[in-house]
This record gives sequence, structure tokens and C-alpha cells, in this order.
Amino acid sequence: MTPSAQVAVVVPTPAHSELHAPLTYTHDTPLPAGTLVRVPLGRRTVLGIVWDGAPAAPATATLRAVAEVWSALPPLDAGWRALVAFAARYYQRSLGEVALAALPPALRTLDAEALARRLARAPSPSGPTAQETPPALTADQTQALQAIESAMRPVLLFGATGSGKTEVYLQAAARTLARDPQAQVLVLVPEINLTPQLLARFQARFGASVVALHSGLTPAQRLRHWLAAHLGQARIVLGTRTAVWASLPRLRLIVVDEEHDPSYKSQEGARYSARDLAVVRAHHLAAAGCRVVLGSATPALETWHAAEQGRYQRIELPVRMGGAHWPTLRLVDLRQQPRGTLLAPPLRAALEARLARGEQALLLLNRRGYAPVIACGDCGWKSGCPHCSAYLVYHKRERALRCHHCGHAQPVPRACPTCGNVDLAPLGRGTEQLEEHVVQALAELRRPDGGPVRVGRLDADTARGVGALEQTLAAVHRGELDVLVGTQMVAKGHDFRRITLVAAINPDGALYASDWRAPERLFALLLQAAGRAGRDAAFTAAQGTQPELWVQTSQPDHPLFAALARHDYPGFAAQQLQERRAAGMPPFAHQALLRAEARQLEVALAWLQHAAACADDLPGRPQVTLYAPVPMTLTRVAGVERAQLLLESGSRAALQALLAAWLPCLHALRRTPAGRGVLRWAIDVDPLGY
Ligand code: ADP
Ligand code: ZN
Ligand code: ZN
Repeated sequence: MTPSAQVAVVVPTPAHSELHAPLTYTHDTPLPAGTLVRVPLGRRTVLGIVWDGAPAAPATATLRAVAEVWSALPPLDAGWRALVAFAARYYQRSLGEVALAALPPALRTLDAEALARRLARAPSPSGPTAQETPPALTADQTQALQAIESAMRPVLLFGATGSGKTEVYLQAAARTLARDPQAQVLVLVPEINLTPQLLARFQARFGASVVALHSGLTPAQRLRHWLAAHLGQARIVLGTRTAVWASLPRLRLIVVDEEHDPSYKSQEGARYSARDLAVVRAHHLAAAGCRVVLGSATPALETWHAAEQGRYQRIELPVRMGGAHWPTLRLVDLRQQPRGTLLAPPLRAALEARLARGEQALLLLNRRGYAPVIACGDCGWKSGCPHCSAYLVYHKRERALRCHHCGHAQPVPRACPTCGNVDLAPLGRGTEQLEEHVVQALAELRRPDGGPVRVGRLDADTARGVGALEQTLAAVHRGELDVLVGTQMVAKGHDFRRITLVAAINPDGALYASDWRAPERLFALLLQAAGRAGRDAAFTAAQGTQPELWVQTSQPDHPLFAALARHDYPGFAAQQLQERRAAGMPPFAHQALLRAEARQLEVALAWLQHAAACADDLPGRPQVTLYAPVPMTLTRVAGVERAQLLLESGSRAALQALLAAWLPCLHALRRTPAGRGVLRWAIDVDPLGY
């Protein structure tokens, strides 16, 4: 048959290939938009997606024919395509890059035959098989549920840890599924490994109609789950950031749990925010009645501000379930303690008293390893990474120095490499040292049953092995560990019954950080950590104790702590927003970064300078401030120097217009002498940290 129709096909394009429009191919019949196809591209055959709109006018060159049509698979629907198109536009990437990256990688390795075999094995559609009877909602929860069901705007569900938010998600999902026998629900969580209980709760409620989508799955599992969602067999998809791209033809409810969590922002590729895209996705589907709920005890200030302005509807769950007590804040002024104090005497006394009564404690230190650097006291040498502008972290048990940025590792030197002094000392402390210290300090202490105190550690090092994380968490649950030392990992959604004391050993680093979002992050972390204590009211009552949150700090007068003592997120947010407004920072301004990487810092900086000059006459420019290019805080990583240029505007539209017009200039600039030596460049819209 002679090919007669022309079709527009989106193909995978490398980040900066300048291929923005779909390519034109021929096929014997027109193909519906969203159809998956395989098409020739250069010498390869690649997966592509038939796209909306008329194909671009054919060039004089002969068009190539579509190689394979995956007609066994329903096309990706208009809602999905709208999401991808929006993301490509908003984050300034090519359609091909975003669209193909949004599909499970294993799909790209299939051909029509392999796909047909997979589909033959796919299970038949399953309705939710409820296994657990839901509890009756409280009055507050009922109100929240009703508000979600009638909301015309995104809903912010604001409630402390343990206030019953998850139960509201579960029942909102149940109602959505009951109303429409094909409806689908998307639940986004920051990290599935850290919240296995959430997945378990959804599965207990909805059985096999729940599938997970996250990076912990094998490529084959991921493909299977993706297909289940795409074919409508999965009614609930629970996943991390990337799950926002799942094909869900009958999507009617999106939940973003812990919506403030920075892990929703991708740090590579299109650098999208899954939280923001969830809101956009629901907006596109508003006519079909799709709702979106953002849940948090400490919403992102952007989200809080949107609720204050009425763009989002705020619903509050004001009390913790089961009468759980809020921990009392106890501050230790580190300025009154000897330098290098790990556990100040009052904290240590409180810890011992609680452990002796059979209670559990959580100690938080946001640095893994034994010490962040080792140094020579004679000549001042420090363990710098040969490839990065960062120190090598001392890992004592491994007897190694490790770079946490590039992965470089080396044995600990026996003597100072510059002066030969054999007396090298660790500076500062990490979780490994804290664990060692706690074990020593509590060696003589006995639990009520006469046994010794058992100390465990949870950080990226101990969680590395398969199942290691789950094992440690389960041990705390079963009461086999009395003290858990760890990084922020330990503050996440675990539901530990007997924990009555949570301590942040030294969170000050965050307050000195150059990142102006640091106080917001620290407040969220400490409030979340506090939420781990005293969750079981029956236990604390039987013990006759009050849960406590201890913070050791050199800045006890920081306004953050006053708000924390009152568990007053709204007060904290109001104060922060006032500062942000005065300083013209987000959410009162919109930002984007242009980043460049090169072997020499001057090359990166000079290129950014040229880039700034190119922006001069572009649309939107008068309303956008371009700051001078600067090296990034962590300038060198793995031998590459990194610099950036910040753009800021009160008008999102002006910033977007400028970026869109700027992109072709940047591509062109890359090919000029100024671009020589630039290894990579990227635009980051709504950057989170810099
Ligand atoms: P959050 O998600 O805000 O941390 P959860 O929904 O997990 O709160 O609720 C905290 C605890 O209270 C959980 O153990 C949950 O099973 C229980 N719970 C929540 N809502 C109810 C309810 N209406 N009746 C009884 N128990 C509830
Ligand atoms: Zn030395
Ligand atoms: Zn390094």
C-alpha cells in the first residue's frame, strides 16, 4: 500500500538538540493523537508518540514511514498530552525530551510483538476489594471530606502529623472510586521507602487495585504497573515524583502528601515540580470533576500564600487523633556548653530517665559519617576532595574518607600529607560519631527489664543494603531498639509507638546556610520530628510522661523556636512571608536560573555574561531582573566548575516570555566561540535551592 497520510510524531530528543516541533512521518492511514509508534530516526528506530495538530509542512526531502503502530495499546489521552505539553513549555524543554522521559524506560525497549505478549499476560480489570472497614470520621474530617468533594479550587489540607489527613485521603479516594466505576486516583508521596505504612494502608483498604510507581521497582515491574494504570486496571496509583506522569485516562482525584517536601522538585532533566504539575493536571481535568488535595503540617510558603490569597482552599484538621500530646519544646543553649558537646547534661539526663522507664528516643543529626572533615592541628591541612570544592567526610568504621558529592573515596592517611604530622583529628560530628557517643554514654544504663540500652542508626549509609532500612524501622516498631540515631530520614512518616523524646542535636547549620529557604526547611523538619513523639496517648498516659522535643542550638532566640514552642506554623509562616515580601522573594517574585558548567570557572561565567547580553531586547525583559553571574555555592563537583545567573520578576508571564524567547539565543550562543568549553547548560524554573 502506498503511504498516504502524514502524521506528526514526537520523538526522544536530547536536551538541547533544538528539535522542538514534532517530526513528520507518513502512514497509510491517519493515526489518532497519543498513539505509540516506532519510527526511524537517523539509523535507529525509536519509540515515538503521535501528536496533536497538523504535521509541519514537509520539507523537500522524502518523508519516512512509520515503522510500527502499537494499535494494541489505547492512545495516551488528551489530558496526559496536555500535561506534557504544558511542562515542556513551562520548564523550557523540548516536547520530545519531556514526553519520552515521562514513559517507563522499559517501554522503549519493546516492539509490537513483545508488547502484545505483555498485554496478553495483563490481569483483567479488578474492582477495589475492600478488606478493611473504614473508621467513622470525626466531625473535622467529615467537613474536610465534604469540602474536598465540593471544592472548585485546589485544596490545602493543613493538619499536624496524626491529625487524620491520611484517613481523609483514603475516604476521599473511596468515594471517588464508588461514584464512577472507572475513576482513578493518584497519590503522590515524597519517598515510598520511608513510608511503607502509607502504601500498606491503601492496600489494606483497596486491595489489588492499588499499584506503586517509584524508582525502587525493577524496570519490568514499573512497566507492568504503568500499563495497569494506562489500561485502567489500576484504580489507585501511589508513587513518588515521577508518578505524576502516569497515564491515567480516568483520573478524578490527585493527592499530594507532604506537599512541602523538596523531593517533589526534580533536580535533573526538566527540573519539574511534581506538586505544581499535579495542580496543573487537575486544572486541565476540572471539567471532568478532577480534584487535587495538597496535604501538610508545614505547607510550602508558596502553597500557604496561595491559600491566603484564596487561590487554594484551606481546610484544617486542628487536633491530633487519639488525644496524642504535643511535645514540649526544651532548648539547650549551646553557647553555655563546652565546644563540641554532643549531648548536653540536661538532655542526657532526660534521655536516661526516659530510657530507664522503657520509653524510646529519636536523635536527629543532619550529617552522616563520623566527622565532616579531618584536619591537621599543626599545619592546618584539611581533607579536601581532589575533584570538588568540598571536604571528604570521615567514615570511621570503613576507615575511609568519602566525598558526598562525587563519590570519591580514599583510605584515611596515616599522616598529614603536607607536614607529616601523625596526629590528624576529626572536626565536627556526624551520625556515626553520635551513635558511638550514645552507646558509650549509656553503657551502664538499664531498661526496666534489666537489659542494656539498644542503639540503632538510620542514614543513607546504613540504609544502603536491600531491606536494611525496613529492618531498622521494623526493629524500632517491635521495640527492639531504644534509641534511634539518624539524619532527617528518621523524622519522616514512621509511626513509632513508644517514642516520647525527640532531640535535634545541632540543627544550627541550617540557619547559617546561604539558602534563604533554610528556616522554612528547618521548621518543617523539627515540627515533623516533633510529630514522632507521643503519638500513642494511651502509652504516654500509662507512663505518666509528657513527650518532649529537645533542640540544642546557639541561637535559642531565633523567632523560629518561639513559633515551634507553640506549634504555630501559621505564625511562623506569617513572619516568614512578611520577610519575603519585604525582600521581594518568592512567592512574591518568580525566579529562574540559567546554569552553566565548564572545566574552567571563567568560561562558565563568561558564557553566562554573554547570555545576559543576549536577553537585552527580548520580550518581558523590562519586567525581569537579571543578576550578575556567580559561582554556585558548591562551585566544583567532580572536576566541573558550576556557575549560575538568577532571573527574577514580579510577573510570571514576563519571566516565561523572556525565557521562551531566550532559549533559541542560548542555543545559538552555544555554537559561538563564547560557547566553546561550556559542557552543559540548563534552565531551572522555580528553583528550590541555589
Ligand atoms: P495523618 O495522616 O495526619 O498523620 P492519620 O490519618 O494517619 O493522620 O491518623 C492518625 C491515626 O489516627 C492513625 O492511626 C489512624 O488510623 C487514626 N485515625 C484517623 N482517623 C480516624 C478516625 N476517624 N477514627 C479512628 N481512628 C482514626
Ligand atoms: Zn599538617
Ligand atoms: Zn568530590
